[in-house]
Formats: sequence, C-alpha cells, structure tokens
Amino acid sequence: MYKLSGVTKNYQKGRSTVAALRGVDLVIEDGEWLAVQGPTGHGKSTLLQILGGLDRPSSGIVEFDGRDLAQLRETEVTKVRAQSIGFVFQTFNLIPTLSALENVEAALVPLRVGSAARQQRATMALEVVGLGDRLRHAPGELSGGQQQRVAIARALVKEPKVLLADEPTGNLDEDTRDDIIGLLETMWRERGLTMVLVTHDSSIARRAQRIGVMKNGRLGFKQPRPGQSRPGQSRPGQAARVQAARTGGSVITDMGAAPSPAAGLMPTDVQPTDVHPTDVQAGLARAADPADPADLAALEDSDLDDAELEDAELEDDADLDSELPDFDDPDSEPADTITFD
Ligand code: ADP
Ligand code: MG
Repeated sequence: MYKLSGVTKNYQKGRSTVAALRGVDLVIEDGEWLAVQGPTGHGKSTLLQILGGLDRPSSGIVEFDGRDLAQLRETEVTKVRAQSIGFVFQTFNLIPTLSALENVEAALVPLRVGSAARQQRATMALEVVGLGDRLRHAPGELSGGQQQRVAIARALVKEPKVLLADEPTGNLDEDTRDDIIGLLETMWRERGLTMVLVTHDSSIARRAQRIGVMKNGRLGFKQPRPGQSRPGQSRPGQAARVQAARTGGSVITDMGAAPSPAAGLMPTDVQPTDVHPTDVQAGLARAADPADPADLAALEDSDLDDAELEDAELEDDADLDSELPDFDDPDSEPADTITFD
C-alpha cells in the first residue's frame, strides 16, 4: 500500500528549522495494522499527514498504490485523499454547525455522490457505528465517544483503502477508549482496511500487528517479545477480500454502497425533507475535506508543543524497544532545536 523512502520534513520556526522527519523508510502492506508510538514532538503526526497527502515531504518518496504522493499535482493528491484515505483525529474535527448526518455526508461531496445516495450511505455508516438514533444531533449534543464515532463514520463512509488515526482516543475516558478501539479494530478486520494508528497508549498499540516507534524524526520498530507471536492479529475477512480481488468482485460490507453501479442507480432527485439542500450543499462544500490542511494547521497549532528535535544520533532500531518501553506519558522526552545556519 505504502512505500516510503528517505522521507524528510523540515518546518521553519522563526529563524530555526525543525527537522520533524529525518529520513523515514517504511513499507506498509495492504491490510496491515501499524501502530506508531513515540514521545510528543517527535514526528508522529507529521508522518501521518504525509501518509495522508495532507503535507508534502521536504525530500523523499511517498509511494501510495504505486504513485508518489510527493510528486503528484495538488488536485491529484486531493482526489486520492477524497477517495482512498480516511482520517480520524484526537479532537474529532467535526463541523459544529452540521448535524451528525451532514458531517458524514461531507465526506461524499467531493466524490460527487448525489444527495439521496449520500444521505442513505451516511445513515448506514452512522448505524454501523451505533448512532442510528443520533442522525440529527449536532456535535455539541453528543458525548466525546459519540463524536468520535461520527468521525469514524465520516472517515469510512467513502470506503477508503486506508484509515489514518492520530491519537483517536486521546480525549476520551478509559471505557470510551476501549469502545472506540474495539470499533476501529472491527472496522479494520471486516473491511480489509490498511490502518495506521498513532497512540501514546501501549495497551492500544499492542493490539496492532506491528508497532513502530518515532524518535527524533526517525522510525524504528519494536520487536515481538521472545515467545510471543506477532503479528498477533489475523483477519478472517482477508481471505474473502483476496478472493474478491481475484474474481474481480467486491466484498460486501455493511457500510452502505461502495462507489459501484448500484450507487449510480440511486434516484438523485430525492431531497432531504428537513434540511435545505442548497444550504447543506454550500456548507458541505466548505466543509468537504475535514482533513483540509488549512483547518488542520489551525487545529494542530494548539496541539503542538514546543518540544523540538535534538541533534543527536538515533540509537540503533534494536535498542528502541528496551530504551523506550512505554509511551503512556505524553510529556516524556522533549527535545531540543536544530538550527541550520
Ligand atoms: P508528534 O505528533 O510526535 O507529537 P509532530 O509531528 O506534531 O510530533 O511534530 C514534530 C515536530 O515538528 C515538533 O517539534 C513540532 O513542533 C514541529 N512541527 C509540527 N508541525 C509543524 C508546523 N506546521 N510548523 C512548525 N513546526 C511544526
Ligand atoms: Mg501528534
């Protein structure tokens, strides 16, 4: 699915340059679940944004399905993102003035899905995440866990290949955290998703097939403990998916119609009865890409800490596991600034 080679990302910060990624090589297989841990400020979100085509690397190759996202034109990247990549964020990123249903519909607007099909698919997506009875609620009328479920429905309604989740349970209490991770795991298992999950929480990371560790802008991998078989997860649905790919068929899921002939057969002149389509359309067009870099920049701003990367050599990957056993403490190991003259 992904092949990254020599990916770097530098940010200007006043007169200094922050090297957020310092040469990341990474292959992610189709259908893999990768967790990424690491201290705050060491490049996890930057990596996720580059995987999602929300940002471009300063150098290196970001191959997604055989195409280099670093080289594609912006309109092409936007298209890839709209079709193939779902995002879930710590702060949910829902549009407060839209209902749960409209928030989920927003993901289908760039794909030019007609309003009736959009509504139907968004309704089904919300039913899948257990919110069939909250369609008309605004985000402010939902609990944190429910808001994250809406965000998951929004990410998955377009039937993406990839789900990128940046600390999706960071704002949730423990019980809700377990519900949300359980939901993500089910979605991953049943839909043949490729999933990259950034988390501070070791108990969550352990549920993934592979654990990466970002430190100083470089990515290492934790080794499975002796006697413990990792990848520990298998996905029963994978065989069906492979079979479907072989036969040219599609895997039927319960999230609603994938872009398929059936979707095209839906009547497109049926309008929602209790919303004004033009308002919704305008609102959705504005909100069409919840992962829009401008929105994200504003959002992430508050999230960024002052920790910057130290100009020290990273230990060998083999040392990472013993040296960085746990990242449950989000404030661990702030690093220094790198200044380039
Ligand atoms: P993490 O997600 O691991 O906490 P980030 O990827 O958000 O780390 O940030 C890595 C480093 O890059 C940090 O030092 C952060 O301050 C810096 N950084 C991230 N985004 C920006 C930006 N848009 N502008 C300037 N610096 C940034
Ligand atoms: Mg982050």
